[in-house]
Amino acid sequence: MPTPDYDGIHAVVSSIISDAQRRLFHSLLLAMRNGELPSINIIWRWAICPRCEGSGGTSDHFGVISSDELGEWSDEFRDAYARGDFDQPCQRCEGSGKVQVIDETCLEPAHLDHIAEYHRQAAVAAAEYRAEALLGC
Ligand SMILES: [Zn+2]
Repeated sequence: MPTPDYDGIHAVVSSIISDAQRRLFHSLLLAMRNGELPSINIIWRWAICPRCEGSGGTSDHFGVISSDELGEWSDEFRDAYARGDFDQPCQRCEGSGKVQVIDETCLEPAHLDHIAEYHRQAAVAAAEYRAEALLGC
């Protein structure tokens, strides 16, 4: 396989790029290689992690806490929970609080159209998947 000649490919090895961004990047790369899109360098930028909102930790392992359960906690425990004392490192950003995303300001309109179509198809596929799951397929 030939070595990709787009600068952006080097960032793809980073684990701080989500699988969704990686798939989108590969979709753009493929379209550029096939000549469907003009070739450009894809630039990555840092963004606040959408999962932990930049804190680097999550309390997701607690699951959903009902108000009844919350009422049973001591004040100290509730304060510690609110401070994030029990947080585990966010798996999405590996605890850094930031992730890399494609900088859309470096893209041309054709690339933005490609991304919009990519997300539209992904939404359709997700809706079909949910519908099939509801039908028990
Ligand atoms: Zn995070």
